[in-house]
Amino acid sequence: MRHPRVVFGFDMETDISSWTPFYEGLAHGTPRILEVLDKHGIQATFFFTGDAAGHRPAIVRQVDRAGHEVGCHTLYHETIGDELFPIPGIKPMLPEECTHRIRVAAQRVRQALGKKVVSFRAPRLWGSTGMINALEELGFAADASYPLYFYKKRLTPYHPSRADWTREGDLKIVEIPNFADMTIHSKDPYGRDRDQWPLFRTEGAAALMKHIDAMLEFYRRKKLPAVLCFYMHPWEFHKMPQGLIHFGEGAVLPDPFIVKNCGAPAVRELDRLIKRLKAAGAEFLTARALARQF
Ligand SMILES: [Zn+2]
Repeated sequence: MRHPRVVFGFDMETDISSWTPFYEGLAHGTPRILEVLDKHGIQATFFFTGDAAGHRPAIVRQVDRAGHEVGCHTLYHETIGDELFPIPGIKPMLPEECTHRIRVAAQRVRQALGKKVVSFRAPRLWGSTGMINALEELGFAADASYPLYFYKKRLTPYHPSRADWTREGDLKIVEIPNFADMTIHSKDPYGRDRDQWPLFRTEGAAALMKHIDAMLEFYRRKKLPAVLCFYMHPWEFHKMPQGLIHFGEGAVLPDPFIVKNCGAPAVRELDRLIKRLKAAGAEFLTARALARQF
């Protein structure tokens, strides 16, 4: 059986995802990620929100010049797909709003990049059938949104159905499932304890690698090609504020695991994770390159 294929996707957004409006991680974490990837000679996909690309076009070009793929991650990190669990202040957009919203987001990224983007990832991995049809209409080739931990069904990349994005069908776009450890018994109502994020940072590469090894064995037993897609963020590679973050009308207190070990520890663990994956024979691909193989 062939070697495992690995896609690293970095979601290029504001610090601590939707919880702050700052781009410190994008500015200072991205160069650290690029150094590690360059050291190992591997390629990844960086999914920028239209807003991030508009605010930091030089970072978009730096990622492109380093040989990586630039993709799209909505306009403002809004919920474009089906809400899997509630987040205060964020409601999903209507299916009929998706096409316009993604078109504008992709235009902003394209303006910064100087060429078309063909890969997408939904914030929080919350995709939908409306979203996948919009991506198909707009000519996207790959979507790396499917949360395996939640839907549990699709273990390898697939062409989704226009009637249900979580099922196989005849759309041209390729859906890439995000890694989850399906060998463990989940104690979370949504299955989130099977997800990989943010184990590499909070518990370290070795802890995540135990789940990866279990899944590699799982794929072998099922005689399926092992495709491992991961999501991480530039703000994890820059020290994040600890404690309350104040805004004009209130303050946000991120849960401890969200801001734990951001910065140098995360850089070190990414480096270790790549070394371990290489030792397991991994081939590293962009989302676009992987989609061409399915
Ligand atoms: Zn995101």
